[in-house]
Amino acid sequence: MSTTRTLHVLVSGGGIAGNAVALQLLRAGIRTTVVERAPEPRPGGQAVDLRGPSREVAGRMGLMPGIRKYQLDERGMAYVDENGREFARMPAEMFDGKGPIAEIEITRGDLNQVLLTELATAGRELDYRYGDWIEGLEQDDAGVVVGFASGATERFDLLIGADGVHSATRRLAFGPEEQFATYLGGYTSFFTIPTPAGAEPGWFKMHSVPRAAVGIRPDAEPATSKAIITMRTAADPALRRDVAAQHELIRTMLAEAGWETPAVLSAMATTPDFYFDELARIDMPSLTAGRVSLLGDAGFCGSPMTGMGTAMAIVGAYVLAGEIAATPDDLAGALARYETVVTPFLAKAKELPGGGIKMMLPNSRLGTKMAHASMKLMTSRLFKPLIMKMMTDTDDYTLPTY
Ligand SMILES: Cc1cc2nc3c(=O)[nH]c(=O)nc-3n(C[C@H](O)[C@H](O)[C@H](O)COP(=O)(O)OP(=O)(O)OC[C@H]3O[C@@H](n4cnc5c(N)ncnc54)[C@H](O)[C@@H]3O)c2cc1C
Repeated sequence: MSTTRTLHVLVSGGGIAGNAVALQLLRAGIRTTVVERAPEPRPGGQAVDLRGPSREVAGRMGLMPGIRKYQLDERGMAYVDENGREFARMPAEMFDGKGPIAEIEITRGDLNQVLLTELATAGRELDYRYGDWIEGLEQDDAGVVVGFASGATERFDLLIGADGVHSATRRLAFGPEEQFATYLGGYTSFFTIPTPAGAEPGWFKMHSVPRAAVGIRPDAEPATSKAIITMRTAADPALRRDVAAQHELIRTMLAEAGWETPAVLSAMATTPDFYFDELARIDMPSLTAGRVSLLGDAGFCGSPMTGMGTAMAIVGAYVLAGEIAATPDDLAGALARYETVVTPFLAKAKELPGGGIKMMLPNSRLGTKMAHASMKLMTSRLFKPLIMKMMTDTDDYTLPTY
């Protein structure tokens, strides 16, 4: 990477995408400011997968020692009925790390911590601001003038919007969310719970009823686990900021569910890191508008159902920072190359494995029984080639070297 000290880049959002791009920019000697709306690093999130070329990027960024420290012990995934009886079991090695359990699984919060630790020693130029956010922006040929909620107004050469699926940067620079978002038919929720007594170490267990599923997944600490809930239901904009309504929806959708569901629902009331969002896909006609570029879920979300959100964030960050550092005097050229280089990867990564929420969560009891029967088939070696074909495989993507 070449070195420049003239550019000043603002990154909106300190999630995986924002922190990964900030780290690479700083290492290239580029002055970087990160503005994160939350008052401190946001904990939470269950296991995110490092698949395909994102493993290679994590290695090139020197993140693997940190990742290995936090890597989860996930040995496989199993489906259980209402009495906790297992009817389908898939060890991780069955799909060579390309199935539901990836070769590298780490909680979102821990991966973000690995990035924050690297950022702390990456360079003198980092300016990291918690508890602030962009309220307005104006562009001209030379840069972007940003107004912050704190009252400050500052000029930057480039603004990178890495502020998640409901990106404020995208709204301000490209237009309202409805223009770019597609509702994928449901909601998802993740939160930490006490590990149920008798849980099998290292195993991700799932139970489903018509239109909803609840899973319990290993956490970094044996005493806690991550609950994951997926629901198939119509979009309800009133749910966006109403945690009580979100809890109520979850309780209603899982009212008939057995197994450990009552314990999960009771832990939900006091969990420290309740996360709830709609399953949505973001498709942008272009990732750049003048001096504003989008990264991660803000620009290319496929929803947690793809299992590729973190991989897309990391690969996108690596390419964006690499292209900027390659031609710091030609930002327009760098941003155009960023888009050309990542688009083939994103197109593949955004594909939903296995037909999306309708196939995953049938409406009726009969449909749910049939889905359970097909889970049993999936565990048969005979069906392995078919299942491998259904999974998103981005290993053939050629990652540029910067
Ligand atoms: C708390 C949390 C838990 C998650 N858990 C999971 C999970 O368990 N499984 C999974 O598959 N995916 C999860 N996700 C989504 C996953 O992190 C992303 O799909 C993926 O890592 C891409 O990350 P991102 O950085 O683009 O977006 P995000 O991870 O959403 O990060 C965006 C960041 O921007 C900040 N932000 C939002 N608005 C503003 C603003 N206006 N100004 C400044 N900052 C802003 C947010 O606080 C957040 O830190 C979670 C996201 C969050 C925020």
